[in-house]
Amino acid sequence: IENSLEWERSRLDKEQLEAVETTEGYVRVVAGAGSGKTRTLTHRYLYLVKEMGISPANILCVTFTNKAAAEMKKRIRSILGGDDSGYISTFHGFCVQFLREEIHVLNYPKEFMILDEDDQKSLLRKAYADLGFSLKDLKISSVLDFVGGRKANDIGYVSLFAEHLADEVGASAAENAPAVENEKREHLVELADEAPDKWMAVYYRYLYEQKKNYALDFDDLILVTLYILENFPEKLDKWRKRMMYVMVDEYQDIDGQQYCLADLLSSYHKNLFVVGDPDQTIYGWRGADINRILEFDQFHKGTKTILLQNNYRSTPSILKVPDAVIKNNKYRIEKVLRPVRAGGKTPVFYHAKNTREEAKWIVERIQNAVQNSVKNGAGGVHYKDIAVLYRMHSQSRSVEEALMSESIPYKVYSGVGFYQRKEIKDIICYLRMLVYADDLSFIRTVNTPKRQFGPKKMAILQAFADTRKVGLYEALLEIVYEAGRLNDVAPDVTTQAELSSVGNDHRKIDFDCKEFLSRSNVVEYVKLIEKYRSRYKDMRVSELLSKMLRETKYEEMLRLDGDEDRLDNLAELKQGILEFENYYEEDASLDEYLQNIVLFTNADEDSQEKDRVQLMTIHNAKGLEFPYVFVCGLNEGFFPVKRVQNKMQLEEERRLAYVAFTRAENVLCLSDAEDGVAGESGSRYPSRFLLEMNMDELDVARGFSDDLLLAARAFIAESDRNRDLMNDFDEDESLGAVKKAPTAEFAVGDRVVHKIFGIGTVSGVDKKNFCYEITFDKFATPRSIQFDFPLVRG
Ligand code: ATP
Ligand code: MG
Repeated sequence: IENSLEWERSRLDKEQLEAVETTEGYVRVVAGAGSGKTRTLTHRYLYLVKEMGISPANILCVTFTNKAAAEMKKRIRSILGGDDSGYISTFHGFCVQFLREEIHVLNYPKEFMILDEDDQKSLLRKAYADLGFSLKDLKISSVLDFVGGRKANDIGYVSLFAEHLADEVGASAAENAPAVENEKREHLVELADEAPDKWMAVYYRYLYEQKKNYALDFDDLILVTLYILENFPEKLDKWRKRMMYVMVDEYQDIDGQQYCLADLLSSYHKNLFVVGDPDQTIYGWRGADINRILEFDQFHKGTKTILLQNNYRSTPSILKVPDAVIKNNKYRIEKVLRPVRAGGKTPVFYHAKNTREEAKWIVERIQNAVQNSVKNGAGGVHYKDIAVLYRMHSQSRSVEEALMSESIPYKVYSGVGFYQRKEIKDIICYLRMLVYADDLSFIRTVNTPKRQFGPKKMAILQAFADTRKVGLYEALLEIVYEAGRLNDVAPDVTTQAELSSVGNDHRKIDFDCKEFLSRSNVVEYVKLIEKYRSRYKDMRVSELLSKMLRETKYEEMLRLDGDEDRLDNLAELKQGILEFENYYEEDASLDEYLQNIVLFTNADEDSQEKDRVQLMTIHNAKGLEFPYVFVCGLNEGFFPVKRVQNKMQLEEERRLAYVAFTRAENVLCLSDAEDGVAGESGSRYPSRFLLEMNMDELDVARGFSDDLLLAARAFIAESDRNRDLMNDFDEDESLGAVKKAPTAEFAVGDRVVHKIFGIGTVSGVDKKNFCYEITFDKFATPRSIQFDFPLVRG
């Protein structure tokens, strides 16, 4: 009964049930953290399938992370049995599914390659080299941003590197495709040559490299999908008819393109269900806009809005903390959130002298929690129940050191792709060689392990490939052929066909092929790739991996180096592949696997499996919950971060704080440090978010002095003035906040601090002229100060 639908239903409250059962039309669920939004979404999916008989193939369910998608699939499978769970994925994951089916209209193969950031940088470096630019001319990371921005601003770019093949003419157009392809590529080179500036030149060259490799980057996944939907009416028709129900979790954080995608896909049946919490918009810097959920009803006629008002996650004493903080945001709509749980432990605050001491305190508490719970028997706290959250990745270091010195197992979720680790990427590139034989993978693998194929040979090969206008690997094949080493290469149909096409175009090779191949094991490499290139479609991915690891001698190389960590990682990769095969059963093709793994980061890995403390940024903790949560580094300049430049950004930081504090179920511990390292004291101030809390409602393990509090307030006021944070929102910018005449915040007798004059006592309040009369300690006579001048309570 554990997994039956009836059991689920009995665990939904009235509003949740209403959200589940309102299946038709536009429905918006707005609710605070821990109110069961995600749970409602999952249940609604089950309801559609189980109670309404809708096929999963007609439901699109979008989650914010791959991990959330995997979890939802798992739950749904456990209840629905082996039913195909259709389209449960992130927006990017959905686009991969879509493009596998449709990208042929752009004359791209369904096995297109997906570039991760590393690959993108490699392509850019190649573009630089071809243009004769140096890294000093343009920073790679800025160009990456430029390319992304450029694409997002003009989706028409897709036509520059893609063909338009309508379905009907597909067959005939495909015949001249190679010629058209070449034309398109040349056009990109021309555009680069004629570009008005270096940025645009690199941009076009990057598109050229992409096209050459049939590669899409992450931005393309969404943009190309939109492009196809917008330019091929029959495709739009097919997909919007298919998607009878569209559901989106964490709707408050979708960007403009994702918003369009959800709208397009639901534009036929008009069943769009979105859930979100405006107070948890934390991706503004990546294009999220709080207004998309707030104004959803204005753009979706007949929207039904359902508010969930219970919090099932946290104890009441924990909930007071995020509540007290988020209240300070002006741009928000107030929500009611009733804690369902009772009582609970008071959240703890600790003010450390420096970050090392802060980390030590955290680790001590972790040890105590786990040990005490062992003593008290069942139902105790395990390492895996504990999360340490911080604003920036760099803040994990001191905590890691302290955990290590006490031999406490932990895992850092860096958000960096698991597949970006060197050994993983290397072996993935071997697998990529079988499918794409692209330049990126070739360069990465040909001389790893060492095959005496160094930069000199690479340069010769590159020059040769350029004159032939082919990829590096194809050029190498031609050389091997020319040198009469073909017999060494296992003959098979594909290879023969490819080589004969190379052979037909038999121009003279102007260097000695035999000489080129001598003193190098590169022929062995070619043999290996050829052997599996023709067979990979009939082999399991796990089998291919084992064979590649062995036959490339990659594993042996690591073993000889005694590199245990890397070997462990490879073992983890194997495990991941087995899971993938398990999930997709017979459909587990290598090209599909390669497209999927690029989307994964280590934040998607299953966290609860091993008993380890979990370290992650707040962004990575989105949507998750933990019995025991530490939020550390609550210092001005760290959280909120230093780069905050305006009120909007400050409010986003505050929402981030709200997200952090609402992850906790049973225990919440907060800490800050006065100092980075031991030594120079007083270099950091407590975060304003701490000052916004009611300290009486915290269990203060160690507090800060009144002096520090005063200094912090003055520091905050001062730095806000410098950053234009003092100004209020424009009137139409702030929600429900009406611009009023300045009012008195202080009363006679209050002690206040003035930035210049120091501390003083309010000796009068002049409501007519909106002024205080303040007697400052250092002056004999009172001065008059305007109400809206920033004073802090002393
Ligand atoms: P967030 O905004 O952080 O994403 P959420 O609104 O999505 O939160 P969920 O993660 O769905 O909230 O639910 C929070 C917790 O409350 C989960 O552990 C969930 O199982 C539990 N929960 C939700 N609804 C109920 C209910 N009706 N009865 C009991 N427990 C519930
Ligand atoms: Mg959620």
